[in-house]
This record gives sequence, structure tokens and C-alpha cells, in this order.
Amino acid sequence: MSKKATAAVVHEVGGPYTLEEIELDDLRPDEVYVRLEATGVCHTDANMQVMVPMPAVVGHEGVGVVEEVGPAVDYVKPGDRVILSWPACGVCPTCLLGHRYICDNAFQLLFGGKRLDGSPTIKLNGKWISGAWFQQSSFATNSLVPQNCLVKVDNDLPPEILAALPCGVMTGAGGIISALQVGPADGVLILGAGGVGQAAVMAAKMTGAHPIIAVERNPERLELALELGASHTVNAETEDAVARVLEISGGGVRYAFDSSGASAMWEVAAPALLPGGVFGVCAAANKETLGGSPHIMLSKGNRIQFIMGGNAVPRVFIPKLIEWYKQGRLPVDRIVGTFPFSEINEAFASSHKGETVKPVVLM
Ligand SMILES: [Zn+2]
Ligand SMILES: [Zn+2]
Repeated sequence: MSKKATAAVVHEVGGPYTLEEIELDDLRPDEVYVRLEATGVCHTDANMQVMVPMPAVVGHEGVGVVEEVGPAVDYVKPGDRVILSWPACGVCPTCLLGHRYICDNAFQLLFGGKRLDGSPTIKLNGKWISGAWFQQSSFATNSLVPQNCLVKVDNDLPPEILAALPCGVMTGAGGIISALQVGPADGVLILGAGGVGQAAVMAAKMTGAHPIIAVERNPERLELALELGASHTVNAETEDAVARVLEISGGGVRYAFDSSGASAMWEVAAPALLPGGVFGVCAAANKETLGGSPHIMLSKGNRIQFIMGGNAVPRVFIPKLIEWYKQGRLPVDRIVGTFPFSEINEAFASSHKGETVKPVVLM
């Protein structure tokens, strides 16, 4: 049986979301219906809409309760609370090697708008539209998800905290801990202090690294970074960022982490990295972004490491994020701002203006 739901549908790339009734396809044996409680709002939902034909239902940081399961589902049962996280096929060579965050089929699973077998999942007014965004399309009251994207969680945390974890916080914290494997003897430069950057700051503090230098243009976000664990902040708008970073670090840092994708930040990272240092990048960089940075990095034998989903395996890493939150070491509540589902356009606008660090909509 198919299932009706209310979704925030986008009809043209970059256009507003409108709440409309949709129909989710019948469950395949390995799929479940989830009634969503909340979902995080991420820049990727806006920036990557060009990948799918319009109209579409996007959203990829869902939290909810399992309503119904297909006959082959053995990981969850109706009533279980789940986070909808990073999709992977589970059977390609890269997945089998344990790197499911860069599954051979990742691009299709994230931005194909359909299941991996090419079948659509969402109907609007009787016609198939793009769904299965990150195999979840979570800007809706209900979602159809393959079981291998689910992470079972307890009922003891509010949905808005859990909804910040599966992409934003996992990318920032995973970038520092899992991908770059920063240690206490390292200095770290964090470029951009939005949701991902702030999670990276919190994680860097957990590693014992010093200094932890956050670079950003928004003074309020720099203030927050300082409260969340940065040892120093540099305002890229008003200060000579390279000179300041070299001065603070005493000549350079072992690691830099960019969540901004901005060329100005690459121009800071390149001269600030120590020889042999690593530049972790989790935001898409284009030709213009690269600028002259690669030439500088070449001379120092630096490594650029692109990072997908924090190089994290959700069922392993998300429970750790939850534990760190409970211990007070990953204060996700400091970055989250909530909006009712009906105000999803306001949530995006607030994020865009830099007012809300990590918006979450509550269904
Ligand atoms: Zn795979
Ligand atoms: Zn995201």
C-alpha cells in the first residue's frame, strides 16, 4: 500500500517550498515508512537541486518513528525511533572495504532523485516527481527509506538535537576525528563557522588539539566558536587572516578544514599549512575557488583531502555523537534553531542570512 504525506515541494530550482499532499510508493521488501518528527536544513538541499528534474522533494537529515516495514526488514520494527542518515548500497567494492560514505553509487543515491534501480518514489497529483533525495526526501511528514540508511536511537533526546547529527554535525566532527584524525599535538585551522564548522570546532576541542583557530566573517559566529572550543578567532573581513594565523600558530598548522567552499578560505589555508600538512575539504570547490592555492601547497607537499559525510559510518559514528552530546562535550543545542514545518522557507532564509547556525524544522 502506498502512503499519503504532506511534503515541502520545490517546483523550480531555488524556488520556494510549498506544502502539498504527495503519495509515497509502495514499500519494497527492504524499505520502511518513517513518520518524521524533525529534519535538519542543509545548504546541500538548496545548492544541489540542479541535479534533479523539478518538481522535487529534498531534505536529508530526518528523525522519526518507524511506522511500517517491508517483509525483508530486520533492523527495525514499527515504533522504533530512527535517524535517517547517509545512504550507501552496501555491496559495492568501496562499501565492502568499509568506506560506505563514498559508496560507488553515492552520487546516484544522493542526487539521482530515484531509487538505485531507477524507480521513482514520490507522486504529486498522480505524476511521478523527483524523490529519494539521499534516499529519504525528508522535507515531509512521512518518508520512504531503505533500512540500511537508518540508525536506531533511544527516545531520550529531543528531535531537533538528533536532526542536526546525520549530515551537519557528522560532517564537521567526522571531518576532524574520522577523516583528518587530528591529535593533541596538532594545530587546526577551521575555515567557516556555520553548522559544520562549529561541529568541527567542538570536535577539535575534544581531540585536545592546540591551537584551534576559527576563521569566518560573521562576528557572532566567531564569538560562538570561541565559546564552543576555538582557542583563537580571526575575522577574515577585518583582519589579515594569513598573518594572524601564522602569528597565533607560531608558523603554521598541521591541519586545515574548510566547510565554506570559498576561494578566500583556500587562500588562507595554503600559506597557513605546515609542510606535509593536510587540507580537509567538505564543500565543493570550483575552478575559481582553487585560485593560486595548489601552487603554494605543491611546494610544501601538502595533501588535499575531500571529505564526504565526515568519512563516518553512521551506525558507528552517530551513537558516539549522541554520547558526546550527553557528556556535554558536543553541545549541539548551542547551534540549533527550530522552525515549524510550515516555515521551512523562513528556516532557509535565516540560514542564508547567517542568523541561525543550524536550522531544524519540526513536523
Ligand atoms: Zn556501495
Ligand atoms: Zn547536508
